[in-house]
Amino acid sequence: MGREDGVARRVLVVGCGMAGARFVGRLTALNPDIRITVLDGEQRPAYNRTLLTGVLAGRHHPEDIALPLPPGIDLRTGVRAVTVHRATRTVVDSTGTEHTYDALVLATGSRPRHPWPRSRPGPGGCRHLTDDHADAGAPVVVGGGLLGVETALALAARTLPVTLVHRGPHLLHRHLDTRAGALLRGVLEDAGVTVRTGTPASGPVDGPDGPDGPEGPGVRLGNGDVVGADLVVLTSGTRPRVGLARRAGLPVRSGVVVADTLASVGDPDVYAIGDCAEHRGVVHDTAVPAWQQAEVLAARLSGHDRHARFTGARTLTRLITKDVDLAVFGEATTAIGAGLRAAARTDVLSVSDDRRRVYKKIVTRDDRVVGGILLGDLSTVDTVRRAYETTGPLPPDRLHLVSTLGGDG
Ligand SMILES: Cc1cc2nc3c(=O)[nH]c(=O)nc-3n(C[C@H](O)[C@H](O)[C@H](O)COP(=O)(O)OP(=O)(O)OC[C@H]3O[C@@H](n4cnc5c(N)ncnc54)[C@H](O)[C@@H]3O)c2cc1C
Repeated sequence: MGREDGVARRVLVVGCGMAGARFVGRLTALNPDIRITVLDGEQRPAYNRTLLTGVLAGRHHPEDIALPLPPGIDLRTGVRAVTVHRATRTVVDSTGTEHTYDALVLATGSRPRHPWPRSRPGPGGCRHLTDDHADAGAPVVVGGGLLGVETALALAARTLPVTLVHRGPHLLHRHLDTRAGALLRGVLEDAGVTVRTGTPASGPVDGPDGPDGPEGPGVRLGNGDVVGADLVVLTSGTRPRVGLARRAGLPVRSGVVVADTLASVGDPDVYAIGDCAEHRGVVHDTAVPAWQQAEVLAARLSGHDRHARFTGARTLTRLITKDVDLAVFGEATTAIGAGLRAAARTDVLSVSDDRRRVYKKIVTRDDRVVGGILLGDLSTVDTVRRAYETTGPLPPDRLHLVSTLGGDG
C-alpha cells in the first residue's frame, strides 16, 4: 500500500454530499483499484440538496433526489469523523474505529448560520419540514437570499400565507441591483408571499400565554413589529464546516485553505473540496464549483491526470422555481453609468420589460463579461454563459447577449 507511483491506494472521504458523492463516482470510474472508504454523519447521505425546495413544494419525493454512488466503496452512514491524526495518517470516527489513509478528502460542506442565539434547525431538515409542517398555518421565512426566496415560493405553492423577512434593502441584495430586486418582489407578492425587507428578524416570540396562547407565537422584527408564525424557516446563509480540519491543525480562514491542487496548503495528503474549501480566497457555496473540484481531484488522485488543477469557477447561479426564471453571476450589482466614472472601461448593457417582469443586464469590463442578471427570460442564458466563461474579447455588437432577435442566442 502507499502511493509509490503517485496514485493514492487508500482514499478516505469525509462527507458524502454533493462534492463527496461526485468525487467517489469519478474516482471509481477512473481507477477501480483504489480502496475508498466514505464516512458521512447523516443516516441518509448523498442527495441533491439543490432539489430540496422542490421536495418542499411537492414537486419531488425525497427518494427521487438521491445521488448515485458506485458499488464497491466502503460507505459508513451515520458515522462522523471525529479526529484526524496527520502524523500517522489516521482518522478516528464516532464509533471509535480507526481508518488509515494515503489521501484524506474533506468534503464536510457547510452549516447554517443562525440569525439569533439559541435557534436550532429541526432534525431531518427539509424532510421534517414537508412531513410534519405541510399544513403549518402561517410560515415565516427568515432570510431573503436565493434559498429563502425559493423556500418562500415553495411554501406559497402549498397555498400557505407565507411572510419572507429580509434584513437587506431588497431581496437578494448581494446578487441583484435595486431594479431586479423590486421585480422579484413583485413575483413573490403575486405568488401570495408577504415580503418584509430592510429589517432583520431579531428573535422568536411566544404568544402572551406561551406557544399555545391565544395570539400564538411569532417572530419579532428589528423595527419592533411582530409577525405571527406557526413555523419559522431559517435561511440565513451558511458557513464552511471546518471544525475537524481546525482541530487537525490545518490552515483554515473561512474554509480549509487549499491550493490549485485542492491539497491543503498545510498538508499534501489532505484535500478539501466543496463548501468547506477555500480556494484563492473564495469559498464557493454552490453545486457546480463543488462538482468541478470533485472532478479535478478525482483526475489527480486516480493517476488519470496528475497535473489537473482547479483554477477557479465562473458559474451562473440559477433560481429554480415555477414562478420565475433567474440567473445571476459575477459583478451583477454594478450601477448603470458606473463605467462613465470608473478608470477601467466598465459598461452596462440592460433591457427591461416591466409588463412581463423581464430584466436583463450584462456588465462588461475591458471587453469581457464580468457579471449580469437575467430575470424573467433565460432565452439568452447559454450565449451569456459562454461569453462569461470565455477569455477572448467580445464582439462590438453585444445585443445578442440580451436578445434572440437577430442574434445567435
Ligand atoms: C436547501 C438547499 C438548496 C440549495 N440550492 C442550491 C441551488 O439551487 N444551486 C446551487 O448551486 N447550490 C444550492 N445549494 C448549495 C449546494 O447544495 C452546496 O453548495 C453543495 O451541497 C455543497 O456540497 P458539499 O459536498 O460541499 O456539501 P454537502 O452537500 O452539504 O455535504 C456535506 C456532507 O458532509 C457530511 N459531514 C460533515 N461533517 C462530517 C463529519 N465530521 N463526518 C462525517 N460526515 C460529515 C454532512 O453530513 C454532509 O452529508 C443548496 C443548499 C441547500 C441546503
